[in-house]
Order: sequence, then C-alpha cells, then structure tokens
Amino acid sequence: MKSVLLILLNTCCSLLFAQNNGDMKSIVYTLASDSMHGREAGSIGEIKAKDYIVSYYKKIGLVAYSGSYLQKFSFKKDTQTDTAMNIIGMIDNKADSAIVIGAHYDHIGLGGEKSRSLTSSKIHPGADDNASGVAIMISLADLLKKQANKKYNFLFVAFSAEEEGLYGSEAFVNMMKGKMKVKAMFNLVMMGRLNEQVPTLKITRHNYDNKYDSVFIKAATTKFQLHITDENISYTDAGAFTNNGICALSFTTGMEDDYHKTSDTADKINYAGMAVIVGYLKECIDRICNPARFAHS
Ligand SMILES: [Zn+2]
Repeated sequence: MKSVLLILLNTCCSLLFAQNNGDMKSIVYTLASDSMHGREAGSIGEIKAKDYIVSYYKKIGLVAYSGSYLQKFSFKKDTQTDTAMNIIGMIDNKADSAIVIGAHYDHIGLGGEKSRSLTSSKIHPGADDNASGVAIMISLADLLKKQANKKYNFLFVAFSAEEEGLYGSEAFVNMMKGKMKVKAMFNLVMMGRLNEQVPTLKITRHNYDNKYDSVFIKAATTKFQLHITDENISYTDAGAFTNNGICALSFTTGMEDDYHKTSDTADKINYAGMAVIVGYLKECIDRICNPARFAHS
C-alpha cells in the first residue's frame, strides 16, 4: 500500500511539474514573441507584456496590492522622462511581513546601444533575459497559492525599466517604505539556461545576508550544483532592497553568449531545468516558513 501511495505521489508530482513546465514554456514563448517587440520600458511592447502578466496573475488567483496590480513610475530615458509599470500580485495571508519574489519583465526592444548583436535594430526577444525569470516567478506563485504557507504574505513583482537602470525595483522599495515589512527578497534573473553538462544554480548575496544559506544548502537537489557567492548585487534588482537594509538574494543560471543579442530566443531555454528550479525554490520557501518542521532534515 505504501509503495502504491508513493507511486501515486510521484505521479502527482511529475504531473504538477509537467504542468508547470508547459505553462512556463508558453509564458516564455509569448513574452519573447515578436508581438511583444522586445518589451522595452515605456513602449507598446511593455504594455502588451504587462496585460499578459496581469491576466496570468488573475488566472492563478493573486490579488492586487493597494487596489491595483500596477505601480506606475517615471524613469529617465536619454534626456526625456518616460513612464513604466511594475506589476504586483499578492498572496495575502494577513501576516505583518512579506517575502518578495521579483523578476524584471522589460527587455531592450530593438536593441540600440544595449545590443550586443551586429543587427541591433531588430527585435531582441529576451527569452532568458528575463522572460525565464518571469515564468519561474509565476509558476512559483501558482504553487504557493495552492499550498499555503501562512507565516508571511507573498508579493510577486514583475519589475520594469530594469534595463534602463533598475528603476522599477527602486520605485517598488520606495513605495513599500513604512507599509509592509519585507522579510526577504528573491530576485530571479536569467533562469532559463541551466547547463546540461554542468548544471549550476548561482545565488548571489552579500556575506552579511547569509542567514538562509543553510536553508539553500539543505534544500539542494542532486540535479544541479549550488554556487552561493558574495558579490556586489547592486547591478541587479536586488540592489535596491539591500541598500535599504532588506535581506535580498539574486538567483541565476548564468550569462550566455546570447546575452543582449537577437539570438536570446525561446527555443534555447531549458524548460525541464526551470521546472527543477521552481521545485527547489518552493522547498526553500517551505523551509523558511516552517523551520520547526524541517529542524531535523
Ligand atoms: Zn538585460
């Protein structure tokens, strides 16, 4: 009976991950499609991506924070001031503090100066950078919504204007000041290229923010190597959080040669690897929310 149950459990888990995997694939393909024009902050492509992400938030049952899913903010583009939008969805557990999971959804549009391609005036799909991070964030939100961890609220933030200079994360941190306490922030950026030969997930954080290291190590699987490193994360969306005394960590599968090129396409993403990472992040959050349950494991 026990083995039947185990088989059933395994089948359920595989189905769950298969479903995640499929959803993440469709999210990456959609965000990286030509119809999104490379999702440049302040452009029609950003608005289309925003509408798509909001529809996903609604579909999985995230609620709006402060009455709206959108946080508008200004940012500097060349000599002009432009407007972009963060997208905030919440699992409201009526707790007094929150875990923030963020991933920027903007990219570099037709490239311009930020392109590393020779054909810099074509659509840059940004599949790994950072449709992959958004897909993992949404998939994780879906799992957390179905299996409630009540200790904290969860805020899922798709940041914009990261490529223009990390404006979205800064605007979000400023908006949250004096409102809800943030327990920790996980930044997901370029998560789609888990290497098949030497699979490695890199976690970057400052040494003084090492309080979850044991959680990350204990939750680790044999499916990838974990590389926890102390680096300056001020070049990621985690930077605005650490600058304000919030424990923040940035996750990535690393930078590839397609970075900021027209060749950062959806067909090159390792979707099975992304599903493994979602399961891992869920396990880490379970351990952070229920330390007593995992005290001996
Ligand atoms: Zn980028």
